[in-house]
Amino acid sequence: MNKDVLNGLFRPKAVAVVGASATPGKIGYTVVKNLIDSKYEGNIYPINPKASDILGLKAYPSVKDVPGFIDAAVIVVPSTLVPQAVIECGEKGVKGLIIITSGFSEVGQKDLEAQIVQSANNYGMRILGPNIVGSLSNSDKLNASFAPFLPLAGKASLVSQSGALLIAIDAATYTRKVGFDKLISIGNMADVSIADIVEWLNEDENTTCISLYIEGLKDGRHFMEASRKARKPIVALKAGVSAHGAAAAASHTGSLAGAAKVYGAAFQQAGVLQATDLDNLFDTTLALSLQPPMNGENLLIITNGGGVGVLATDAAEKYGLPLKFAPADVQAELKKHMPEFGSAKNPVDLTGMAGNEWYADSVRFSLSHPWVDGLVVLYCETAMTDPQEIAIAIHKAIQESGEKNKPVAVSFVGGERSAQAMTWLVEHGIPAYGAPDKAVNALASLREYARIKEMAHEDTSICKNENREQALKVINAARAEGRESLTEVEAKQVFTAYGLPVTTTTLAHTEDEAVQMANKIGFPVVMKIVSPDILHKSDAGGVKVNIKDEKEVREAYQAILSNAKAYKADADIHGIAIQEMAPWGTEVILGSINDPTFGPTLMFGLGGIFVEVLKDVTFRVTPVSTSQALRMLGEIRGAPILGGVRGEAPRDRKMLADTICNYSSMILDLADEISESDANPVLVYEEGKGVKVVDARIILKKK
Ligand code: ADP
Ligand code: MG
Repeated sequence: MNKDVLNGLFRPKAVAVVGASATPGKIGYTVVKNLIDSKYEGNIYPINPKASDILGLKAYPSVKDVPGFIDAAVIVVPSTLVPQAVIECGEKGVKGLIIITSGFSEVGQKDLEAQIVQSANNYGMRILGPNIVGSLSNSDKLNASFAPFLPLAGKASLVSQSGALLIAIDAATYTRKVGFDKLISIGNMADVSIADIVEWLNEDENTTCISLYIEGLKDGRHFMEASRKARKPIVALKAGVSAHGAAAAASHTGSLAGAAKVYGAAFQQAGVLQATDLDNLFDTTLALSLQPPMNGENLLIITNGGGVGVLATDAAEKYGLPLKFAPADVQAELKKHMPEFGSAKNPVDLTGMAGNEWYADSVRFSLSHPWVDGLVVLYCETAMTDPQEIAIAIHKAIQESGEKNKPVAVSFVGGERSAQAMTWLVEHGIPAYGAPDKAVNALASLREYARIKEMAHEDTSICKNENREQALKVINAARAEGRESLTEVEAKQVFTAYGLPVTTTTLAHTEDEAVQMANKIGFPVVMKIVSPDILHKSDAGGVKVNIKDEKEVREAYQAILSNAKAYKADADIHGIAIQEMAPWGTEVILGSINDPTFGPTLMFGLGGIFVEVLKDVTFRVTPVSTSQALRMLGEIRGAPILGGVRGEAPRDRKMLADTICNYSSMILDLADEISESDANPVLVYEEGKGVKVVDARIILKKK
């Protein structure tokens, strides 16, 4: 990131509008007018070879004719004229180009887009867009866009990949009372990426929360790195999570992964909160932009009404912050600020008799008590109290408590007076919501932010147990035969190269050879068809387990061959695998996909035949450290099974985590080779007894 250039782009001291127009209704007119109307204090230079004056400003034929410097040029000329405009801006020494013009990669004009980026970069310029609404900044009084006005002022900054949505959000900031400092339209992201802007906003003094509307990232790993390093909360709404998974998949993992899962994992790993919908993006942005993270689990709710208290209690559980009873000393003190029939437990019910003072006293005390990590204050409008006075009392109590590291959110339920009081609260830095569950959800987000921030900084050291050459030998041999899928035998050789514990496996080409090998491995053995044309071996009758003697080996050999031929007459059969029979263990699945956005991504879940039905799986973008792997084990619904249920001993989670870590190393190291893979099942034994990979599958990348 070149900070000076991006400062010029987003906080310019002088702006040119290339393609400025004196004709109302044209974008070139609107942009100039918006700059004037937003009371922009820098110089505005309309550029138009045919005009001498636009909206009372002197116009110039070219940026090169402008006497002073220009930081940013807003470009609105037709796409065919953009290359020339870029060159002239470059020669003028412009820093950033805000290219509103459309007609580039979004309509298939990729070369034209690449050309202007190349040309701009050659001059050291960066491009925002093309195909955007523009860029708006309250702190710079800059509306360099065709959106009608600056948003309601606030401390969050929003980056939107959708222009129409950005304009809609701009207007909605006033009705929803969620303020923003900057709104940045990113369009085709030909040059400046969301990651670049996250890095830049992280340094922007006027932004306390970064809010993102994302349709698809271009460089997922850069985004993750930028977000992980950010010291400000980031909340993202990812749209388009339903279609991606439709792509045909050859592995279990491929069919279970989808954009939703992978983006979800990436956001979590990068410390980015994920908004569930547009409403939630606003609500979360409001909380994150105004309040500190919640650094513990103890949420206290203060209310004047039992009903909203119960609703908030339900919401607390739903959003992962279940309420606990306040400790005795907290209760004793709070009891002083309510009538006899109030409740000091949690929710703290001050009763409908609660006036300003009770609210103020209980808020002040609660915030200063070490047990309380965060506070939700609820108020139901009553005939006896004035919402505005309650709001003032709450605000004053927060100030007086002197507490700056504990978040507070408020919900007033009532009519116009309550709505006005909430607007006042928001203006005074306290997020306020029309429903109690939303206030609780706001604190849950602040808690989640603290939690994922801790996780994003945890140990990421990865396992190194690699024999890349050995793996490549196997892969290249298969490629030489024109194959893109490895057999189980080959896949296990690749697994072994990365320290994964696989069952001893040999390949027999004749019945006699099979007998010999079985004797060598020791009975019982497992026999399986080995054919690149048969990926799901059991489906083809190609797996026989628990083979106890020579006679059974011979029978199985013939049976498997004839089953395979019946299943697929022209299958290329490499032979029959003879392998050690692993003792029973808990079945789990490890797998990977090579995600187009984030690269090698690992999946873990409970395995066996129901994996695709139960979908009890969790994802991580690689690399995955052992401690992250341990966390994955706890994330699936079936986690207690690994802990040992119904008198069974706990499973060897440590070895499983190490195995996940090695798996991650494998798919990362072989990112150019492996497209999908899975180990299904991996058998997990009692603590201290390790794990065993009994089946392996690798699909190669097309080359
Ligand atoms: P596929 O998934 O292609 O049908 P697998 O190799 O996974 O074939 O075998 C099917 C099932 O047989 C496995 O899920 C596992 O329960 C069992 N199995 C396979 N290999 C072994 C082995 N070496 N030891 C013990 N059980 C095995
Ligand atoms: Mg299998």
